[in-house]
Amino acid sequence: MMNAKVHELLNSQINKEFYSAYLYLDFSNYFKAKGLDGFANWYMIQAQEERDHAMLFYQYLQNENQTVVLEAIPKPDLTFENHMEVLKAGLTHEEYVTSLINDIYAAAYEVKDFRTMQFLDWFVKEQGEEETNANDLITKMELFGSDPRSLYLLNQELAARVYTAPSLIL
Ligand code: MG
Repeated sequence: MMNAKVHELLNSQINKEFYSAYLYLDFSNYFKAKGLDGFANWYMIQAQEERDHAMLFYQYLQNENQTVVLEAIPKPDLTFENHMEVLKAGLTHEEYVTSLINDIYAAAYEVKDFRTMQFLDWFVKEQGEEETNANDLITKMELFGSDPRSLYLLNQELAARVYTAPSLIL
């Protein structure tokens, strides 16, 4: 039987991951409107990955015969003055998601729920990659964002990102 707090946190994470997808879809929407299709593509794929994350938590709870309760997804209400603010909001959001994953891990650890800890291991690693990706984007924008020709090339680089399904299979 799964611990009630671990169950609640895992269920809540479904919503958080769908919100992440919604947030990145909004980032994609921002860049599409600015004519930066490569950035829009990068965040669109990011949104697809977040939807996958949500489904992994959903699937894990179902595999464990735990109830799933889907809650309302909040409206992304961030407004941006410039491109850099979007990228920085992405990093802030990933740091927040890392803290959420860590909290679930801590709750599972406390009750010796080794199965949930093993499930979360993939997300611990994934969050490291997400923060690295968000930091790399900020660095590139700092270096190249103020020069239109460099921004054009960076936009082309981000246009090349392709979606791949998550390596974790439940
Ligand atoms: Mg995620």
